[in-house]
Amino acid sequence: MNRTVADFIVVGSGIAGLTTALSLGESGHVIVLTKAGGESGNSWRAQGGIAAAVGKDDSPSLHLQDTLRTGVGLCDPVSAEVMVNMAPSTVRLLAEWGTRFDRNGDGWALAREGSHSVSRILHVKGDATGAGITGALLERAKSHGNIEMKTHTMVADLIVKDGTCRGVVAVDQGRSEPAVYLARKGVVLATGGSGQVYRYTTNDRGSTGDGFAMAYRAGVQLTDMEFVQFHPTALAVDQNPMFLVSEAVRGEGAILVNDHGEAFMHRYHEWKDLAPRDVVSRAIFTEMSEGRTVFLDASPLKDRFRERFPGIYRECVRHGITPGVDPIPVTPAAHFIMGGIRTDHHGRTTLPGLFACGEVACTGVHGANRLASNSLLEGAVFARRVAECLNEMPVQSTEIGDVFWTGLCNDKQDEERIKDEIRDIMWEYAGIVRSGESLRIGKEKLAKLRSRIREGMPECENMLTVAQMIVDSALWREESRGGHYRGDFPQSIPEWEMRHHVIQRGTVHESH
Ligand SMILES: Cc1cc2nc3c(=O)[nH]c(=O)nc-3n(C[C@H](O)[C@H](O)[C@H](O)COP(=O)(O)OP(=O)(O)OC[C@H]3O[C@@H](n4cnc5c(N)ncnc54)[C@H](O)[C@@H]3O)c2cc1C
Repeated sequence: MNRTVADFIVVGSGIAGLTTALSLGESGHVIVLTKAGGESGNSWRAQGGIAAAVGKDDSPSLHLQDTLRTGVGLCDPVSAEVMVNMAPSTVRLLAEWGTRFDRNGDGWALAREGSHSVSRILHVKGDATGAGITGALLERAKSHGNIEMKTHTMVADLIVKDGTCRGVVAVDQGRSEPAVYLARKGVVLATGGSGQVYRYTTNDRGSTGDGFAMAYRAGVQLTDMEFVQFHPTALAVDQNPMFLVSEAVRGEGAILVNDHGEAFMHRYHEWKDLAPRDVVSRAIFTEMSEGRTVFLDASPLKDRFRERFPGIYRECVRHGITPGVDPIPVTPAAHFIMGGIRTDHHGRTTLPGLFACGEVACTGVHGANRLASNSLLEGAVFARRVAECLNEMPVQSTEIGDVFWTGLCNDKQDEERIKDEIRDIMWEYAGIVRSGESLRIGKEKLAKLRSRIREGMPECENMLTVAQMIVDSALWREESRGGHYRGDFPQSIPEWEMRHHVIQRGTVHESH
């Protein structure tokens, strides 16, 4: 098997992976492995923006308050504080590296989103923030002499020797040839989320939870996997991934209505349409379960819609809907996972030599629910911190002995069938509203799928592992909090506040 050695191996080319690579680029040779083209991943899909307290009426402490309140008692306050304090310097760095945030007069234009107490969301070309930031990072990384990008290269597993992560085994998807990549200083997982385990999702097709599953197989601790955020307003047309109608649209005045023309959010929360995401998603879910269709009425925005949200406008028109004139049909969809690989405040995982940042990591900043526009921020901030830490790491041996891997299985049809079954099970039994009974049924159905997964189906295997971790975690937490809602335990129970669990090698136990 071909072997390549670098100082740093970074897996993933979203905001987290590219920011890590660029932050390490001055210190050594970085290889970035990414399973699709450079433009894959959720970072490219992000619309609304990135949060930072840069406005005159704002401060990191106000940003912290909003973050902690939204996380309903489960945030790691130290992590969250690190993030909000580093937010202003991080958006300035992104701008220095080429991101052209929208401007308003002399300064950056700042939008407001749900649960933020002031306007603090920086955006690019209205609703193309992710592409604006990631595009700039990618350009810079490609022209950086120390950064080598390997696209269409899927990492299948971590290589662990003597209790340390030494590298990864990957497959070039064009040629199906496995290869080994070894790191002198460390490996960074920046593989993003796992929305593809659900039938309806806004996540990129590649968000199959590979990083979570690889870490799990290597015995690394994961945590908080029950906390999945369902975005309330995906465009309700049949496609995978589903197109997101950003929360910023409601921030600008659009309102949710049902097919009786009723603006119903006042029945569910005092903040109405700008209530926390989980509340809005459950409200829409309830309206739908009772047989009503839900729309976003953007008529208050009139012609402003097209100018402020050009991308969303174009996508709606592609489906025969004119925003501002026609009601926009919407549905909740799996969007983000708050849990993940447990890390410290520098992105160190429980496996020496392995770091994680971005959506795959659980730094604790989101707690039970993520504040809008905090995830791009988390990705960039903790990527910088991972790089700081990695720079200080001693050089390790790259002698690892033999590595075996079979390569990819050719039966793509069967693989896609199994993936669809996982998605259906998760939507039905571990979705927006779950219960002990539904989760136990889901668990049994997932277990039956395992024997059908053959060697060389890594995405399928990974999706199943992630699905099982979500189900086990959701069974463990017998209360409702943030993104996790149990129909049989509908209240938040004070004794569960600040209680987290750890998933490791098939067990779920309380973390201390
Ligand atoms: C539609 C949408 C809109 C959003 N809007 C916002 C927003 O406005 N503001 C905000 O803060 N957040 C937003 N989010 C969330 C945010 O975009 C993500 O949480 C964030 O971009 C994750 O960044 P990341 O770098 O961790 O992962 P990603 O950007 O998803 O990148 C993951 C990378 O890992 C690669 N990869 C995965 N598995 C493997 C493997 N096995 N081998 C090799 N490579 C692999 C992928 O190809 C990809 O390059 C949005 C999400 C979606 C889906």
